[in-house]
Amino acid sequence: MPRPPKCRRVAYLPEITYFKPAGIPLRVLEEVRMSIEEAESLRLKDLEGLEQEQGAGKMNVSRPTFQRVLASARQKIADALINGKAIRIDGGNFEMTWQRFRCRDGHEWELEYPVNKPPELCPTCNSPGVQPVIPAISFYQGRGRGGRWRKADL
Ligand SMILES: [Zn+2]
Repeated sequence: MPRPPKCRRVAYLPEITYFKPAGIPLRVLEEVRMSIEEAESLRLKDLEGLEQEQGAGKMNVSRPTFQRVLASARQKIADALINGKAIRIDGGNFEMTWQRFRCRDGHEWELEYPVNKPPELCPTCNSPGVQPVIPAISFYQGRGRGGRWRKADL
């Protein structure tokens, strides 16, 4: 029986999720779909310059899995660039992680590693109600119809 895929961890969601070549009407465009995890592997490896081992650690996957996700992401970008296709970044199988948090009294701090759940208490004033500080403008999870991110309930 196939194992259910392990949930991959993602620390950033891309704000822009659709790219298209200029001057080509949408109806004649072919589209490449990239998952959120694929975009995350590109961010970690090619933007942050992490080693594959480190990227795999951040995403909570094995190194071969990270390598496979990354190779797939790069292949899709190459396909879009060379063959003039649009890229849609969408969906996938992942859970959000955060590294920076804020308590109700406004204390902010950053953990050494991203986690998938906010800490319960503020390390400065011990108050509960800790919320993640979102790296992008807003935090959205998943996509509803019409290509918009749905706002997450935190
Ligand atoms: Zn506090």
